[in-house]
Amino acid sequence: MTKLTHKPGPHSPPIQVKMSMYELFYRISHWGPIVAMTIINCITFSTLQVTSMWSPFFSSWSSVICHLLFLFLVGSTLYNFFCAMFIGPGYVPLGWHPENIDECRFLQYCALCKGYKPPRAHHCRKCKRCVMKMDHHCPWINNCCGHRNHAKFTLFLISAVCGCILSSVLLFMGLYRAFRVNWYFLYGDHQYIVYLTIYQLAFTVFSFGLALGVVLAVGGLFYVQMKQIIKNETSIENWIVIKALSRPRLENDTFIYPYNLGWWENIKQVFWYPQENGLTDWPIVRGCSPYTLTVEQLIQKEDKKARKKQYTIVKSYNGSWFPLSKGIRTCLNPPCSDEYRIPLSIGDKVYVTRWRKRWLYGEKCSVTGGLEENGVKGWFPRCCAVEFTTTDGEVSKVAKKLS
Ligand SMILES: [Zn+2]
Ligand SMILES: [Zn+2]
Repeated sequence: MTKLTHKPGPHSPPIQVKMSMYELFYRISHWGPIVAMTIINCITFSTLQVTSMWSPFFSSWSSVICHLLFLFLVGSTLYNFFCAMFIGPGYVPLGWHPENIDECRFLQYCALCKGYKPPRAHHCRKCKRCVMKMDHHCPWINNCCGHRNHAKFTLFLISAVCGCILSSVLLFMGLYRAFRVNWYFLYGDHQYIVYLTIYQLAFTVFSFGLALGVVLAVGGLFYVQMKQIIKNETSIENWIVIKALSRPRLENDTFIYPYNLGWWENIKQVFWYPQENGLTDWPIVRGCSPYTLTVEQLIQKEDKKARKKQYTIVKSYNGSWFPLSKGIRTCLNPPCSDEYRIPLSIGDKVYVTRWRKRWLYGEKCSVTGGLEENGVKGWFPRCCAVEFTTTDGEVSKVAKKLS
């Protein structure tokens, strides 16, 4: 079943990166890269400072190897971090459509990019573009993780985890010697005593905590990424597959995920053949068509439309993430998502597709009742809306009563 219908070709054009100074500045001047670089600097500086006290660079062969390994991991982390940020995921050309216009019916249309979304592409609201093989928008690199930078992003994660494991061990050994400085002074080798001032000690403990935090948090993310790369799924596709497998179907209608070519081919596709054009030339398994997943997405979208309910806004909402005026319970039970929050005014109508106890997710409609061309989607407090079951006159009465 898992056989390639065609192999990735060496004729595919190489990745070209063109970046203006403005874009370079735009990517880097964001809290994500600034915090990430600060963390990398703190851990690197602290590790080198403390380690140079108890195991100076040229004191032994093991020290030389240890230092070089640590510097290599720091270099690899920074190199892959900047590559992932500046290469970017690859964007779908604006107004894109397949060569054969008939095939447009298998694809979703992006009203914002005024073009069709190729297989595996999704629109990123933060990047304001349709992204090739979009995985997720990563605030740490202030860019999307997708087709072109998937390998660099994954290498950044593993380099950071390995670097922080080594750093945690070195810092722990340094701190142990710093806390037992008297013992080492009396009985140890005086040349390699770790003596830290109170500020240096606080900074080292802080860096040690940061390094452990990176190992746990980034290690978890790396595990999830590798699990998905092995299945040739992105985070978004993983969600589509879960819904596809749980959707009611006809007896002989089984869903086969079209891109799972076997774990080794899948890994090679991310790390060895990222030069595919990222639009339509995805290798697929026998028994599937290039549009198997996009057709499934269109069906799921229709299914979602059929389940949506219209709500009317009876209390205005300014789009705040912590709307204190809507009650403390609303603030304490936010949706676990960084998706957009929609500002709403009394009388607005919203098609709701997801329900939480205190929040709703939906798409804002135009005043005339039809969907807006660029329908804004997002979360808003549940207490601001009532289900649209009454006439407009009655709704305005309810609004008046509540305001
Ligand atoms: Zn788009
Ligand atoms: Zn993005």
